[in-house]
Amino acid sequence: MTETINCGHCQMLLYFGEELKRRLYMRAIPSEETVLGFYGDTCPRCGGALSMETVRVATEGRATHGS
Ligand SMILES: [Zn+2]
Repeated sequence: MTETINCGHCQMLLYFGEELKRRLYMRAIPSEETVLGFYGDTCPRCGGALSMETVRVATEGRATHGS
């Protein structure tokens, strides 16, 4: 499974890789918020604030039926 994080303002791709929850076990990237911290919590393209409320996190490869 792969996970992508896009800026919610301009859709810039901020992260693409192995699902972060799995990376936790590899002690690589502990959380999405850490990824946002790599950018200083600011989108390098549009300058918008990055937070879990403003970015789009998508995980591919997992069935997400129902709600
Ligand atoms: Zn942006």
